[in-house]
Amino acid sequence: MIKFYNTLSRQLEDFKPIDKTQVRLYTCGPTVYNFAHIGNLRTYIFEDLLRRVLEYNGYQVKHVMNVTDVGHLVGDGDEGEDKIDVGARREGKSPLEIAKFYEQRFFSDLKDLNIEMPGKVVRATEAIPSQIEIIKILEQKGYTYRDESAIYFDTSKLPDYGKLSGQKLSDKQTGARGDVVVDLKKKNPADFALWFFLAGRYKNHILHWPSPWGEGFPGWHIECSAISRQELGQPFDIHTGGEDHIGTHHPNEMAQSEAAFGVPLANLWMHGRFLQINDNKMAKSAGTFITLNDVKDKGFSPLDYRYLCLTAHYRSQLNFTWEGMLFAHNTSEKLFDFIRDVKPGKEGAAEYEKEFLEAINDDLNIPQALAVVWKLVDDNKIAKEIKIASILKFDKVLGFNLDNPPKETSPTEEASALLGQRQQARDAKDFAKSDELRKRIEELGYEVMDTAEGQKVKKKINI
Ligand code: AMP
Ligand code: ZN
Repeated sequence: MIKFYNTLSRQLEDFKPIDKTQVRLYTCGPTVYNFAHIGNLRTYIFEDLLRRVLEYNGYQVKHVMNVTDVGHLVGDGDEGEDKIDVGARREGKSPLEIAKFYEQRFFSDLKDLNIEMPGKVVRATEAIPSQIEIIKILEQKGYTYRDESAIYFDTSKLPDYGKLSGQKLSDKQTGARGDVVVDLKKKNPADFALWFFLAGRYKNHILHWPSPWGEGFPGWHIECSAISRQELGQPFDIHTGGEDHIGTHHPNEMAQSEAAFGVPLANLWMHGRFLQINDNKMAKSAGTFITLNDVKDKGFSPLDYRYLCLTAHYRSQLNFTWEGMLFAHNTSEKLFDFIRDVKPGKEGAAEYEKEFLEAINDDLNIPQALAVVWKLVDDNKIAKEIKIASILKFDKVLGFNLDNPPKETSPTEEASALLGQRQQARDAKDFAKSDELRKRIEELGYEVMDTAEGQKVKKKINI
C-alpha cells in the first residue's frame, strides 16, 4: 500500500485512486516570464518522482500541467502588473514572444533533468473558453461581484474557504500573511479576481479576449480550475505544487471549482517544500536566483542537481550550497562508475527490492531509497550483476539514466602526454615528479585518480 501525506487532511493516507489502474495527476506549471530557477525545478523533480513512483507501482498516470502565459500578477494577490508584461517590457519583446521563449527553456531544463514530460500541457491562453464557462456558473450561483476593474470571487460565501492551509478568513482580514495585498475595492481581503477588464491599470493589457462581460483577461487561479477539469474531470486524484501554493493559489482553485460544481477538485493535495539559499527562499521576484545554466556553467551535470534533490525528502526544506552540489556530483559519479560497462544479471536482489519499494511507498521517502541503493552497492555477499539488475530497476524511479551512463572523461592530447610522463615517473618511483605532474594536469582542468586499472581522470570542478 502506498502512503502519501495529504496537505488537506494533514495526515498520511493510504493511496486509493478513483480508477483502479489509472491515476489522474495535475501539477501547476511555470509562469513563463523568466528562466526557471533551481528552486522551481526542485518542485518539478518532486512531481516527477511522484509520477515515477506511481508508475513503478503499476499505475498508468494521466499527467496534465498548465503553463501560465497570462494573468499571473506580481504578488499572488490581484495587485501589480501581469508578470508576462513585466518580462516583455524588460526585454523589449511581445508577451507571446516572452512566453514562448521561456516555455521552451523550461522544457529543455526538464529534459536535462530527466523529468518525464506531462502527457498533456495546456497554456492558459489556450483554455479561455473553459475559464469563461466556470466564471459564468459562479456568477449564476451568486459567488461573484464586480466593480469597474474586475469580477471577483466572494470568499465569504464559502464557509470552508482556506481549509487547505487551516487559515481562517479573519487571519487574512488582519493581513496576517505577507502575500495578502489589501485591495480596498474587494469586499474581503481574501477575495480574488476571476476576470479583469481592460480598465484602469489594465487598460493597455496586450492580451485580451471577448467575454460576456466585455474584453478582458482571466485571473491566475481560474486557469488551473478550468484546465484540470477539462483534461482530467472533477474530482481527480492528485494535485501538486510548491508549498507557496498552500496559502493562496490552491485555496482559490478549490474555492472556484467546488463552488461551481459542488464536488471536490482533487482528493489528495501534495506540496513540496522550498529550496532555500542562504536560509531564504529562492525566488524569481527577488532577482537573486540560480538557474540550471549556472549549474552547468560551473561544470556540473544537471543530473548532479537531480541527485542533490533526491537526498532530501520533498517535505523538508533543502538549503542550496555549491559544496552540497559538489558532494552530489561526487556521489553520483561513484554510482555511474559502479554501473559503467557491467552487464546486468537476469535476477535482482529480492530483499533489497522489497526495501526499496517500502521506502518509495512511504510518502516518497527517496533519501531512504538512495540509502538502500548504497547498502546494496556495498554488500559484498551479492554478485555485481545481481546488484546492477536491481539498481537499473530502481533507476526507473531515480531517473539517472543509469542504463546509459555518461562516458568516462577522456583527456585532451596535452593532458594525455602528461599522464604518460606521470606513469613513467611512478614506474621509476619518482613520486616528487609524479606529484608535480598531477598539479600540471590539474591546471588543465582534470583530477587524476590512481585506480587498479591505472590512472583515470575526471573533470575538476571549481566551486
Ligand atoms: P512559478 O513559475 O513561479 O509559478 O513557480 C513554479 C513552481 O515552482 C510552483 O510550483 C512553485 O510553488 C514552485 N517554487 C517557487 N519557488 C520555489 C522554491 N524556492 N523552491 C521550490 N519550489 C519553488
Ligand atoms: Zn495551479
